[in-house]
Amino acid sequence: MCCAEAIKNALKAKEINPDINITILFRDIRTYGFKEKYYNLARSKGILFIRFDETQPPEVIAKDNILQLMLNKSDIGEIKFDTDLVVLSAGIVAPEGNSELAKLLKVPLNEDNFFLEAHVKLRPSDFATDGIFLCGTARAPANISESIAQANSAAARATTILSKEFLETEGITSNVNEEKCIGCGQCVEICPYNAIELVETTKQMGLYSNNIQKAQVIKALCKGCGTCFAECPVSAISMSHFGNDQIKPMIAEAVKSEEKVWEPRIVAFLCNWCSYAGADLAGVSRYQYPPNLRIIRVMCSGGMSKSYILKAFLEGADGVFIAGCHLGDCHYISGNENAYLRLENLQKLLKMIGIEEERIQIHQISASEGKKFSERISEFTEIIKKVGESKIPGKVSKAKIGTN
Ligand code: SF4
Ligand code: SF4
Repeated sequence: MCCAEAIKNALKAKEINPDINITILFRDIRTYGFKEKYYNLARSKGILFIRFDETQPPEVIAKDNILQLMLNKSDIGEIKFDTDLVVLSAGIVAPEGNSELAKLLKVPLNEDNFFLEAHVKLRPSDFATDGIFLCGTARAPANISESIAQANSAAARATTILSKEFLETEGITSNVNEEKCIGCGQCVEICPYNAIELVETTKQMGLYSNNIQKAQVIKALCKGCGTCFAECPVSAISMSHFGNDQIKPMIAEAVKSEEKVWEPRIVAFLCNWCSYAGADLAGVSRYQYPPNLRIIRVMCSGGMSKSYILKAFLEGADGVFIAGCHLGDCHYISGNENAYLRLENLQKLLKMIGIEEERIQIHQISASEGKKFSERISEFTEIIKKVGESKIPGKVSKAKIGTN
C-alpha cells in the first residue's frame, strides 16, 4: 500500500510544483495491478528511485534547520543529500485487538494478524463461519476503492442471508441429548463454527428447582464436522446420518474375515473432503495398495470418536489408519488439529490395554495425493505384517470402553 501512496503523493507534488526534486527511497516497490503505469509516469517526470538494503536503512540527521539524509549502498558507497521535507510512508499493520475479536467471533487470523477469508478466490468476503463477512483492511492492507468494492461484496453476501425468510440447514448436523448433557461446555469451546451455545434451563426436583446449563446446537450454523460429538465426555451428542448408528456397524462389517491364512485387517478412516478423494484418485490412477484395506468414510478426522478406533480393535482390526486434510487446510477449519490431539491422548489408553502404538497411524493426504495414499497405506500394511496379528478382542471388556 505505502509504495503506491508514495508514488501518488510524489506525482501530486510534481503537479503542484514541477521544479521540485523528489527522491523515493525504497526496499521493494510494489505497484500492483494498473498502478505500474504511475510508477513509469513518476520515472518519466524525473522522480528518482533509490533502493536501500534492509540491513542499512537510511538515516535522517537534523542540521541547521535542514534534514540531511544519509544512505550507505554496498554498490556505490555513501549517498548524502539535504532535504526540505522527509516523508515516511508507513505500512498498514493489523490492530492488536484483532486477536480478541477473532476469539469472540471464532474466526481465523492469518500470520500477519489480519482476518483470514474462507477462500481467497472462491469466497473472498466470507469467513468459513456462516453469517460473518469481512472487507477492507480487516482482511489485508487495501486502498479506498478496493475497500469499497469489498464492502459492496460483503454487503451483497450478507443480503443472501437477510433476504431469506428461513434458512436450510445442512443435512448432517449434531444433536444434543439434554438428559445426558452435564453442561461442561467442552463442545462450545471446540466447535470451529460457534454453532453450540450453553443455555440455562430450570430443572424441577420435587419442591426445589435448579438452574443448570445445557448445550444447544444452532442448526443454521452447524456444518456437521462431528468434532463436538467426538469431544463430549458423556456421549451426549449424536450426529445425524454420520454417527454411531452408521459408522459402528460399518466397522463391525469391515473387520470380518473369512480368510484361512492371516492377512492384516486394516480399517482406514478417511475424511470426506481430502483423503477419501485421495484414495479414489489412487484407484483411478491405478496406484496399487493392499486389497485387504477397508475404507470407512467420515466427514472429518476431527469427528473421529475414540470409540471408533477402540471398536475397530475390539472387533479384530490389526491396524487403524486415519487420514485427513493437511493441517491449515481442513474443510472444517481446525478439525484435523483436534484429531491429532485426541489421538495423542488415546495412545496412552491403547498402551494400557496392550495395543502397540505401531498399530495406529494418522496422515495428511489431500484429494490430489493418490500416490501418497497408496504409498502410506502400503508402508503401514508392511508395518502391521511385522507387528503381527492383534490379539485384543479376548482381552478387553467392551463395557469398559463406553458408548462414544
Ligand atoms: S460437551 Fe457434552 S456434556 Fe459438555 S456441554 Fe457439550 S453436550 Fe453437554
Ligand atoms: S458438528 Fe461441528 S459444526 Fe456442528 S456443532 Fe458440532 S463442532 Fe460445531
